[in-house]
Amino acid sequence: MRWSRYYLYTTREVPADAEVVSHRLMLRAGMIKKLAAGIYTTLPFGWRSFRKLMDIVRRELDGAGCVELSMPAVQPAELWHESKRWQRYGKELLRIEDRHGRDFCFGPTHEEVITDTVRRDVRSYRQLPITLYQIQTKFRDEIRPRFGLMRGREFLMKDAYSFHPDYDSLGETYEELRAAYGRIFEACKLDYTVVEADTGAIGGTDSHEFMVVADTGESEVVRCPNCGYGANVEKAETRPLAAPEGDGERDLEAVDTPGQKTVDEVATFLEVSPMRVVKTLLYESDKGLHAVAIRGDREVNQIKLGNFLDAEFLALAGEDKVRQATGAPVGFAGPVGLPKEIPLLVDPSARDLEGFVCGANRDEAHYVGARWERDAEPAEVIDLLLVGDGDACPRCEGVLELYRGIETGHIFKLGTKYSEDMSCVYSDDSGQDRPMVMGCYGLGIGRTIAAAIEQNHDDDGIIWPLPLAPFEVLLSPLNAGRDEAVREAADSLYAELQERGVEVLYDDRDERPGVKFNDADLVGIPVRLVIGSRSLKEGNLELSLRRDGEKHTVARTDAVGRVMELLAAG
Ligand code: ATP
Ligand code: MG
Repeated sequence: MRWSRYYLYTTREVPADAEVVSHRLMLRAGMIKKLAAGIYTTLPFGWRSFRKLMDIVRRELDGAGCVELSMPAVQPAELWHESKRWQRYGKELLRIEDRHGRDFCFGPTHEEVITDTVRRDVRSYRQLPITLYQIQTKFRDEIRPRFGLMRGREFLMKDAYSFHPDYDSLGETYEELRAAYGRIFEACKLDYTVVEADTGAIGGTDSHEFMVVADTGESEVVRCPNCGYGANVEKAETRPLAAPEGDGERDLEAVDTPGQKTVDEVATFLEVSPMRVVKTLLYESDKGLHAVAIRGDREVNQIKLGNFLDAEFLALAGEDKVRQATGAPVGFAGPVGLPKEIPLLVDPSARDLEGFVCGANRDEAHYVGARWERDAEPAEVIDLLLVGDGDACPRCEGVLELYRGIETGHIFKLGTKYSEDMSCVYSDDSGQDRPMVMGCYGLGIGRTIAAAIEQNHDDDGIIWPLPLAPFEVLLSPLNAGRDEAVREAADSLYAELQERGVEVLYDDRDERPGVKFNDADLVGIPVRLVIGSRSLKEGNLELSLRRDGEKHTVARTDAVGRVMELLAAG
């Protein structure tokens, strides 16, 4: 491709809302253009990289026996009523009405459509299992679209759905797809990790996320370097925390704690460790008001709490609600004397404490020397702990490490949720109808490209991993307008490389060398060939790799061979 005939316009300007480096670099390198919040045009230079990724995805999924199709973006509401998601999906679902007043949505995902398709075609166990996939545009009206393609509203996703006669068959396909996902991210040369994920409201049985490791990632995951256990913190577990020493049998005593609201304030005021304080928080949800007791130095995992309560929404109760329910302002609630109508959930970290400090459910007072059973009913003990860096691995003797990651893939055992709601059944070998068992498998195309840039860049621009690079080689003659020999050498090299099937971007623009060098660094093509008057007179060119920037002088006659070697090496 000749740059002068191509559609690639780099820019120095980036809008203030481009907070992360991949967003800035994709804009600056002319890969994407914003049309509206969370809605982007993928420009030709970006699209080439998308195509590379989509080719890898198709190769691996086809290899794993999946079958590609293409489903509509606009979906009738009836299907979403059947699955009961028309309401439940909430505001992320973009609802639209046609000229006849019929309701539709722009698909945020395709469980409904694929289930409808399969229930009309598949009747017998002999047709199962089957895995179908597409690469297609989704729309989710994200509350906070940001980071460019990382969290867009309209975005490209590969979504696959598998249908099975039973859970064993689902388990086999799930493992095959999990392995295929691993091969995809490896083929992209990305540093990734697979973690156990929360199955949330859909209530499936098993779920894993593929995280590309990056400091700017929106997800937090823990990993055990010893046994490989990995989990999203939304779901992560730890071994029971070691409880601090008790303070012997002592009586319950109320003490004045004027103005001491936070755990740290109370602990400092009473000269105890925050580990000896039971923190009691009140949460409001569609399931009512609940109190949660946890050790003072730890945080509640609201996802675990929401799952336990099966709540549609959940938030800390406001000031007024707390006072009305407990009789005390925020900061003074506690398990001792908590009104009976407020169900109390106790995390093991709090249950294991003996002789603890807690709020007295009155203004400006706490208890010291409190004990479970004697002073407070430990109604329900459940794990609600937010696991963090340095906690003990639940599977081995190791210590968990906390990372940030970008969730680029998500696989999920759905079970029979959709097939039951939408009567997607097959007849088994005795002729009896059974709901199909399903799995689903998502992978964000744009988000993965953004993640690749988060992981591969420097101050000057993108450093493409070869498998995702829009072009493999950048051919850059300097001052070709003034030196016919340089132009001729560049033209002939371009032709030779193209003949060999190399993807070359030929920077034939009439630009100063400085501009060409800066653009080359910005757009990040892995192999660079520079042709200058002086070295060409000696029969040489300059070859360099974007990743290390080291310049090597090569003979004009060896250049193509050297490039082929570098590309073969990957
Ligand atoms: P998140 O928790 O980040 O919102 P999700 O759990 O909603 O993701 P899935 O429904 O599992 O995502 O979608 C599958 C894949 O689609 C994700 O792993 C991600 O790569 C991609 N994806 C999801 N939402 C977006 C988005 N708003 N912008 C770009 N890609 C997305
Ligand atoms: Mg989401």
